[in-house]
Amino acid sequence: MGTEGLGAIERLTRELTRLPGIGPKSAERITHYLLAHRGQAETLAEALFAVKERVKPCRECFNLTEGELCHICSDPRRDRSQICVVELPRDLAALERAGNYRGVYHVLQGRIAPLENIGPENLTFGPLLERIRRGGVEEVIMATNPTLEGDGTALYLSNLLAGTGVRITRLARGLPSGSVLEFANAQMLADAIEGRRGF
Ligand SMILES: [Zn+2]
Repeated sequence: MGTEGLGAIERLTRELTRLPGIGPKSAERITHYLLAHRGQAETLAEALFAVKERVKPCRECFNLTEGELCHICSDPRRDRSQICVVELPRDLAALERAGNYRGVYHVLQGRIAPLENIGPENLTFGPLLERIRRGGVEEVIMATNPTLEGDGTALYLSNLLAGTGVRITRLARGLPSGSVLEFANAQMLADAIEGRRGF
């Protein structure tokens, strides 16, 4: 539902309600807080605008960045022979917090979800294959979420990579099924990376 025709206060409350984790009551509270703190409202608006204008996908791995390459792809100490494939930038951030992975990443920008009409053509499989064709990649680590769709996406990708000669591994199954990487704790993720196995 569009909120263009509403008054400014109601419009802000409606927009806030659309955010994850914010119900109608919180939205109303935030709206009134911002009305009482105009300076903060302006700073917040500027921060939102800056994110929208400046942050874009890394041209190599599709992580979020303000430059051409993200901080991981532009780090010469990262091992380019290993590519860890994740669904979203927030999954990448969770794995980085685990702290023990020294390779690079590839963000698919989602997962195959037929019910939502998201097919392989909507994801970044093409650029990933291109990276592998350029050479130097020895291992692709599947780190899609341990959900039905995440597993299906990993299976699709493993078929796609068959014949490229790269070793395909997946995170160890220490993670509770259905859990989302971003909510797993750092030690659990570190163990899952350490204990990865053949796909
Ligand atoms: Zn990158």
